[in-house]
Amino acid sequence: MSLETYENNDLNEGLFRIIPRAEHSISRRNISSGAVRVLYRLHEAGYRACLVGGAVRDLLLGGNPKDFDVATDATPEQVRALFRNCRLIGRRFRLAHVLFGREIVEVATFRGSEDDGSGDRHLVDGRLVRDNVYGTIEEDALRRDFTINALYYDIADFSVLDAVGGMADLERRVLRLIGDPDLRYREDPVRMLRAARIAAKLDFTIAPETAAPFAKLAPLLAEAPPARLFDECMKLFMSGYGLASFRALEQHGLLQYVFPATARSIAEAKAPHVRQLIEEMLASTDARVRADKPVTPAFLLAALLWEPVRQAAEALVVAGTEHTAAWQDAADRVLREQSRHVALPRRFTLGAEEIWALQPRFAQNTRKRALRLLAHPRFRAAYDFLLLRAGESPQLAALGHWWTIAQELGADEFAAQLATMPELAAAEAEAAPRKRARRRRRKPQTAAPSGSGQA
Ligand code: ATP
Ligand code: MG
Repeated sequence: MSLETYENNDLNEGLFRIIPRAEHSISRRNISSGAVRVLYRLHEAGYRACLVGGAVRDLLLGGNPKDFDVATDATPEQVRALFRNCRLIGRRFRLAHVLFGREIVEVATFRGSEDDGSGDRHLVDGRLVRDNVYGTIEEDALRRDFTINALYYDIADFSVLDAVGGMADLERRVLRLIGDPDLRYREDPVRMLRAARIAAKLDFTIAPETAAPFAKLAPLLAEAPPARLFDECMKLFMSGYGLASFRALEQHGLLQYVFPATARSIAEAKAPHVRQLIEEMLASTDARVRADKPVTPAFLLAALLWEPVRQAAEALVVAGTEHTAAWQDAADRVLREQSRHVALPRRFTLGAEEIWALQPRFAQNTRKRALRLLAHPRFRAAYDFLLLRAGESPQLAALGHWWTIAQELGADEFAAQLATMPELAAAEAEAAPRKRARRRRRKPQTAAPSGSGQA
């Protein structure tokens, strides 16, 4: 796609603009010290150097970007020659990472529009598997995903360069894909998830022509690399806008291609608690992220896949499988099926299994068992999960309430209160996989970042 064909597109006609320093709100004060140093160093060495992407977008919206990306006409090798603390990464997109203590500034060379044979761009069935063709800043803008992500803050004169109408879309609060949507989603289906995520985070509307191809092209997400989908899911659900992202995925019919079993279980659920559990989990995760508290993907997985596992286990029990075996089998199957779509690191699936396995133990009211549960490294996560399940039955809600009060008591009083623990129906008390025998032999797992759960 060339700039010319782009400008012929009447939606984006005649949009090339340079916004001088006095006419926009970006100030160097709000840019990380590492990024400022990279920009000046490149500039002083005679290269073009701009801040680009989410950072420019968020600064213009008055937000605080968490990472700063730089675009330049220096090649990755030229960037490396300028910085001691620099390493080159990536195959699909070769990039330079410049390190300042804990800060990493990503430096990308302008991508070109045409492969004249000298560069390295590779498409498989219309999918972009490698893009290392270098070009001009205008061409680079056209290779980016959304107009609001294609604004450049130029360190040479502090102006903002807008080649795609990004400024107007920022003002209108519209997320618009650059170029022909059909082509751009085929190049990289993950852009559909990025659309839902960025629109949710900024509370923007997705332009109609940008959302229209989802219905037809979302199935292409099935071919996206599972590891990349895991990264994208972490951004979707663990960056402080999980609930909004989840609703955007549902609204645009994308959830079923990322978490198919979850989407099915919500669609089939007769009671509202299936959706409630997930939405409450996401709301609590969002609150924790914003308060800078730790969160773990194990909890996310436990909640998203709880109903699918519960249903699969029930079906196995009806078919005659013994309870514990049925739950283990169901957890295995659901996690394995989910891993075909989104790569799930073992420590997180183990964490989710553990949260599930601890559920029936909350109903055990002997002193020894209850105290052992209280001391379990996953107690907090499992207890938080028990509270999320309150919508399943009044007895479960009462049990959660009992544990809320009881865990604050001293050991003697705790023991004395065990007699008042609410009882569960037999089916509920059994409703979770038991911890596996083989895992008992393992060393105690180091707890996930939170060391516990989410409350
Ligand atoms: P966030 O706030 O989540 O960091 P971001 O827009 O900065 O949002 P990044 O993944 O950090 O997202 O990407 C940086 C920039 O790189 C984007 O703003 C966009 O210009 C470009 N980009 C990222 N992913 C793609 C993609 N799949 N296709 C085209 N351009 C992309
Ligand atoms: Mg970013």
